[in-house]
Amino acid sequence: MTVNRELFDQVMVPNYAPSSVIPVRGEGSRVWDQQGREFIDFAGGIAVNCLGHCHPALVAALKEQGEKIWHLSNVMTNEPALRLAKKMVDATFAEKAYFANSGAEANEAALKLARRFALDTYGAQKSQIIAFNKGFHGRTFFTVTVGGQAAYSDGFGPKPADVVHCDYNDLAAFEALISDNTCAVMMEPLQGEGGIVSPSNEFAKGVRDLCTKHNALLIFDEVQTGVGRTGHLYAYEGLDVVPDILTTAKALGGGFPIGAMLTTTDIAKHLKVGTHGSTYGGNPLACAVAEAAFDTVNTPEVLSGVVEKAALFNELLTAVNAKYDVFSEIRGQGLLIGAVVNEKFAGRAKEFLVAATEQGLMTLVAGADVVRFTPSLVITEDDIREGMARFEKAVASVVNA
Ligand SMILES: *Cc1c(COP(=O)(O)O)cnc(C)c1O
Repeated sequence: MTVNRELFDQVMVPNYAPSSVIPVRGEGSRVWDQQGREFIDFAGGIAVNCLGHCHPALVAALKEQGEKIWHLSNVMTNEPALRLAKKMVDATFAEKAYFANSGAEANEAALKLARRFALDTYGAQKSQIIAFNKGFHGRTFFTVTVGGQAAYSDGFGPKPADVVHCDYNDLAAFEALISDNTCAVMMEPLQGEGGIVSPSNEFAKGVRDLCTKHNALLIFDEVQTGVGRTGHLYAYEGLDVVPDILTTAKALGGGFPIGAMLTTTDIAKHLKVGTHGSTYGGNPLACAVAEAAFDTVNTPEVLSGVVEKAALFNELLTAVNAKYDVFSEIRGQGLLIGAVVNEKFAGRAKEFLVAATEQGLMTLVAGADVVRFTPSLVITEDDIREGMARFEKAVASVVNA
């Protein structure tokens, strides 16, 4: 069978438009395609491959668990799930964990829990959910409705009700929306898909205080920011704001699908037996790999390494920009980095991604104006330098086109 890009158009639902490059193997921050072409990976599978490709600790955990037991269902619990949950609650504000298979599912659980909590505690009138324009929370119908991009939620018929939005970092607009009928507020502690936008400390604290005042639960969607990406285990630590519910996925499995929702015992008790569930959630194979990823990332060396690598990354990116003047701002936190194209290149971020691919470098965009980088948290200095040299060539090719 010839497996190539044309086969995609023949057999796949057309909701994606993948590149013609088909990677077949990866090691650390290097990837090889079907023709043996080598790429440096600054994309990390969209902030998923936190330890690069085929990290020995993850491969060992996968092999070990793969020869023990793969799946049980939640009719029985299992050792990897309980160990991982214990480590996650020990390392965070949370006391209880729920496992899912993706970010959207973790968020779906968070939103359903918040609705249950408010209904049980305060009554049916407390159902409003506030979220932020340009936010992204996944693609289930509830999460896409809560996400702040109509392009993703329109065209599917009637939406889940009582979901409203305001601008991120606009505390006055938020204050005008929230009331005693607000059930929950869902926000990213740094908007990823929306363009790598950090909240101001004042905004994050203000949202927390107003949630507390109105008995609304604050849900932090840390699907992209979590598990070391910002240099903290979770980004809330850096904001000095503690959410009531936190969701995590992407980097949690280091490339194996898993998501989780973390919360307190008082809130968790509202998801009683039978109120929510998942066939695969807490699957032993997924939890064993995630446990290895979590153990590896949650060390002072890896977390401080993120800060050091980010400094080098930003320095080199700034130097490229000083030479070619294509970006108006380089922003983000840790190894979640966005380069905003300036007016000359408005709407053309994707051209830098395409040019980078031609130079043997994998990057991402976040909207039409931001080139996004989410490399492995343990990428080597050599790979950062070589990748950035390739990026410089890509920028030159766009500028000189
Ligand atoms: C990627 C992402 C999601 C969705 O995760 P899936 O695993 O694709 O369902 C949700 N929230 C944020 C902030 C994300 O970056």
